[in-house]
Order: sequence, then C-alpha cells, then structure tokens
Amino acid sequence: MDIPIANYAAGIEVANDLVSTSPTVRGAEALPDVEALAVLLAGHDLRRPQDEDVFPVQLLRREVRGIIETETEEQAVAGAGVLIGRAGRAPVLRRDPDDRWMWCVPTAPDASLADELAAFIAVGLFGVVRTLGHDRFRACAAPGCRGVFVDASRAGRRRYCMPELCGNRLNVANHRARRRAVTP
Ligand SMILES: [Zn+2]
Repeated sequence: MDIPIANYAAGIEVANDLVSTSPTVRGAEALPDVEALAVLLAGHDLRRPQDEDVFPVQLLRREVRGIIETETEEQAVAGAGVLIGRAGRAPVLRRDPDDRWMWCVPTAPDASLADELAAFIAVGLFGVVRTLGHDRFRACAAPGCRGVFVDASRAGRRRYCMPELCGNRLNVANHRARRRAVTP
C-alpha cells in the first residue's frame, strides 16, 4: 500500500480507535475477533483482515499506547520510527487524483496487515509531532477512564479518548456531584 504523508490524520484516527479497544480502557477486550478488526479498519485503505491478523494487531495496540504515553517528543519519534520500520520503505512521490505530486510511504509487498497498520499509524504520529506538537498526545480527562489519545484536530481542544462515551461519563459524574452538593 501507499500511505500519503499529508493525510496523517487518518493514521491518528485508527490509532485512537485501536487504543480505545483495549481491556485497560473498556474493562473487556473490544477487539476480540476479525469482525471487530474489520469494523476498526473500515473506511481506510488497508487490506481485508484475516483471523491471524487479530493477535498481532492486539500486540501493536500496546506499542501504540506506549508511544502515546511517552514523556518526551524524542521518545515518541523514536517509537514511531520503530513502527514505520516494520513495513515502511523510502518515501516516493505519487500523483494524486488531481495530478499533483504527493509524498507517500510505500509498504513492503510481503508486509503483514499489522505491519502495514504500524506504518500507517506511524505516519500519523510523525505528522502530529511535526505539525501540532507532542502535547497533542494526551490522557483522557474523564474521571476513572484510563484511555489515551492523540488530538489531531485543528483546534486541539479534545479532552476524551471516546468523546461520546467519556464526555457523557463526565457529565454524569458532575450531575451526581451537584446533587450530592445540594442534598442536606
Ligand atoms: Zn476516556
């Protein structure tokens, strides 16, 4: 596959979704089988997953989480460098649909899905460190949530690993706290 470097946000989207499937975050394995993996990868230009891809992707998930949790940008860049080395090859120029040249990272033809995914995510991590900064690597702000994520949004104000779920969790906690505060 060719990973367009300019489209690094796509790699971040997958990285965030992947890290959010872990038992650490969900309390149970949310990436148990190939069907769940297919859902995770839907809409991205990756190959169709097989049963044997599930475990290597679960292992990759731990590595990606470790990189998001790095304390320095040097550590993050080094970690992403290891990931891209699993399948990524020297950058090339390809023509986009509008006939303009764009930087791409091709992956090795014999790379596994997990290796391709590692390179895809690594391009995303590099893109964020370079363009937005390492402070976009964050822990979820919801009380009790152990999620981590990378904020690739323009505004950079994202606070939750799973905005729908963890934002609501916080609202519920605040609501309960307010009720406790007014109860005599
Ligand atoms: Zn969360």
